[in-house]
Amino acid sequence: MRIFSGIQPTGRKHLGNYIGAITHYVAGQDRGEGIYCVVDLHAITVPYDPAALRQSVYDTAAILLAAGLDPERCVFLRQSDVGEHTELTWLLSSVTAYGDLQRMHQFKDKSASQRELVSAGLFFYPALMAADVLAYRAHEVPVGEDQRQHVELMRDVAERFNARFGDVLVVPEGSYPTVGARIMDLQNPERKMSTTGATEQGTVYVLDEPDAIARKFRSAVTDSGTEVRRSPDKPGVTNLVDILAVAAGQEPGEVEREFDGSGYGALKQAVAEAVIEYLAPVRERYNEIRRDEDGLERVFAHGAEKARELAAPTLHDVREAMGFRGVRAGG
Ligand code: ATP
Ligand code: MG
Repeated sequence: MRIFSGIQPTGRKHLGNYIGAITHYVAGQDRGEGIYCVVDLHAITVPYDPAALRQSVYDTAAILLAAGLDPERCVFLRQSDVGEHTELTWLLSSVTAYGDLQRMHQFKDKSASQRELVSAGLFFYPALMAADVLAYRAHEVPVGEDQRQHVELMRDVAERFNARFGDVLVVPEGSYPTVGARIMDLQNPERKMSTTGATEQGTVYVLDEPDAIARKFRSAVTDSGTEVRRSPDKPGVTNLVDILAVAAGQEPGEVEREFDGSGYGALKQAVAEAVIEYLAPVRERYNEIRRDEDGLERVFAHGAEKARELAAPTLHDVREAMGFRGVRAGG
């Protein structure tokens, strides 16, 4: 059982990333062969600063390691270290439908909010993401709800490749958390909490100080009623109930029963306390890991080596099937 997922090194990672993705990466290490990737090549699809990128790759890596990724129990790599990702992207472009890329919500959202250049890379993002997963013949892709369309696209790419060139690629399945697959912006609960495009006050960062976390939950937007109940017309309250359930290790139904009649103030305070405690271990371990950039480089070097061993045979088979000379690992 191979599990693959990628995370962008853009900015600071937030509670949505942690609940929707990072905790599932950590758990995946015990269920199968986990392959986790800091996707720096994805980060250049929007305007960015090269020096800041180098730093935020380390920031993101340190968060993942502090959260419990163990480079001895999983493959932990930096995308740009392993050339197979980009080569496979181009090869798979021949079985990626232009019309499908045009339908991607993420491209529509992110291109609409770009004030300068809308890069072709932003449009082609899902093809690189397909190659990330397919290069490792991964079976499972743990991601948040927002990535469902991209996972469907990579399945189509794999199926089209296999139909056209023979059975070479594994068609992966997305796996989405049952609770917390889409954590919403606390200030604007109609939108997902996000690295790009969310409000500062509505985004809880994994490394936020307890005071900041408390303040953000205190000012969370709810609605005009008083009932603590999940419902489509109560997106703010639903979000808080879901967050509390995950952070406290309860079912959302239990949270509703516990706060029946106690109002939003008590709910907000309880969520803040639970989240502070939930994130504390990561924040405590982070600084020591982040400080040691040479150590992080060694982790990446080790990960790249293991990753290449897994991806090279796929590239060999894909190249041969498509009419190119196959290239064995190291050759
Ligand atoms: P951006 O807005 O720039 O795309 P992001 O906040 O979505 O950034 P990513 O690095 O793209 O961060 O996402 C990493 C993982 O976190 C993905 O699996 C994604 O589905 C998941 N994720 C992102 N936002 C949320 C959210 N609000 N709730 C649950 N999971 C999320
Ligand atoms: Mg994203």
